[in-house]
Amino acid sequence: MIIANVAAALPGERDFHLVDILVKEGKIAWIKEAGSFQRDSRLANEYAAEEMLDAKGLLAFPGAIDPHVHFDEPGFTHREDFLHGSAEAARGGVTTVIDMPCTSIPPVTTPHALEGKLSIVGDRALVDYAFFGGINGTMLPEEIPDVVQSLANRVVGFKCYFISGMDTFPAVNDTQFAAAAEACAKEGRPLLLHAEDSNVIAEASQERQSLRGSQAPSWADYYTSRPMEAEIAAVHKALKLAGQYTKYLHIVHVGTGKAAIAASEKGASCETCAHYLAFDETDFARFGAALKTAPPVKSPEQKAILWRLLAEGRLSFVASDHAGAPEYEKFTDNPLTAYGGIPGTGTLFPYLLSEGLFAKRLSLECFLEATSGGAARRYGLWQGKGSLMPGKDADFVLVDPDHTTYLDPSHMMSKSSITPFAGMRLSGRIEGTFVRGSCVYASVRLAAALCHQANPAFSNEVGMILAKPGFGKFLTWGYR
Ligand SMILES: [Zn+2]
Repeated sequence: MIIANVAAALPGERDFHLVDILVKEGKIAWIKEAGSFQRDSRLANEYAAEEMLDAKGLLAFPGAIDPHVHFDEPGFTHREDFLHGSAEAARGGVTTVIDMPCTSIPPVTTPHALEGKLSIVGDRALVDYAFFGGINGTMLPEEIPDVVQSLANRVVGFKCYFISGMDTFPAVNDTQFAAAAEACAKEGRPLLLHAEDSNVIAEASQERQSLRGSQAPSWADYYTSRPMEAEIAAVHKALKLAGQYTKYLHIVHVGTGKAAIAASEKGASCETCAHYLAFDETDFARFGAALKTAPPVKSPEQKAILWRLLAEGRLSFVASDHAGAPEYEKFTDNPLTAYGGIPGTGTLFPYLLSEGLFAKRLSLECFLEATSGGAARRYGLWQGKGSLMPGKDADFVLVDPDHTTYLDPSHMMSKSSITPFAGMRLSGRIEGTFVRGSCVYASVRLAAALCHQANPAFSNEVGMILAKPGFGKFLTWGYR
C-alpha cells in the first residue's frame, strides 16, 4: 500500500513533511518526498499493483499508544472488555494499548493467569496490546523476585498500589514495595505505582466526616479527602524506598503537578491523563460522577503545572486510565461510593491533538512523545512501534485538520460512555487508524474510498471498525 501526498509527523522534526509512504507486509518500507512515487517511473512500475491512497490534505501521525487501560477481561466484563475497549481505542487513533493487571480475575500475577487472559483476549483485540504484571499485598516480600522473574518476558512492566479500592488486588506495604523495586530493576522492567498515601487520605477523610456530621456526602467530601498532599507524600515515600532504583520507578496517573516535579527530579518517570489536563476540582459541580477518578482531578493551579511539565518534556507521556463502568455503578447518589474511573482511550488522542498541538500548548515533538514515542521507549516497544520510521510497524492515524470532532457519547464504542469529555468540540477529525498497515477504523469518507466492509457491531454515522476481532497482536518487551 502507498499513502501518497500525506503531511507526516516524522520523528525529531519540528514540522510536518509532505511525503509518500510505502507499506509492505505491515511495516513501513520507505518514506520519500511527496510525488516520488508518481514522478519516478521505476518506482511507479515496481509498485504498480500496490493499493494507493491519495491522502492529500491529511496529516499522518504515529498511531497513539495508550499505556494505561483497564479492559477488565476476564472478570469485570460488565464494565469493559477487550473487544469494545479496543474498538474505542481504534476510533480514537490508538494502535497499541497496555492493559493493567489488577482489574481482571484472576489478576495477572502468575504466568498461568497471564496465559489464561491471553487465550481469552487474543481472539477479541482489534488493536495491538501488551500487559503489565501485578505485585500486590498478598505476596510475601521474599516471593516477589520470583513473581517478577516468572513474568518479565511476557509483560512490559509491573504495577502496584499504595492504596487500593479492590479486594482482589490489595495495596503493598513498604517492605513489599522495596522488594518489588529491586526485583524490577534486576529484570530491567519499570515498576508502576499508584501513588496516593493511605494515611494522608484516612486523616483527610476523617476530618471531612467530622465536619459533615449526619449530612450526606458531597463531591467536595470526595476530592478533599484525596488531596494533593496524598500524591506528594506517596511520591516521596516511593522515591525513598526505591533507593538506588528510582529510574525504574514510574508514577501512573499523576494529577498533582508538584508530585510530578518531585518524581522527575529524582529520575523517576511520570504519566498524567487527559482528564487532569482538561478538568479541575471546580468541575465536579457540573459533572459529578462522570468526572470521578482516583486520584481525583486537582486544583486549576496543579492542572496548569501539568501542562507546563508536559510542554517541557518532564512528563514522559499521557495515558487514558480507561476504566468505564455502567450507570448503576457510577450514579449511586453517594460521591464516596460511585465507581471511580472513566472511559478515556477514545478521547485521549483527539483531545491532545486539539488542545495540545493545534492550540499550540505543545510542540510537534512534545506531542509525539506524549502520545506515542514516550510510552514506546519506556515499555520496550520502541524498535517496532512509536514513530513513523522505515522498518517499524505501519501504525498510523490519518487526521483531517480542517474538520472538527464533536465528542458525542453515542459514537463511543466502549461499553461505557459516561465521560466528562461528552459534548466537547475539538479541532481535527480522525479519518483512519491503521495498525500494521491495515485500516482498523475508518471515517465514513475513508471507508468509501477504501471500499471496505464495516463490522456492523461497530458502525455509526461518523465511522466504523473494519478489522476482525483477534486482529490485534500480543506484544512483549523488545518487540520489533
Ligand atoms: Zn488505572
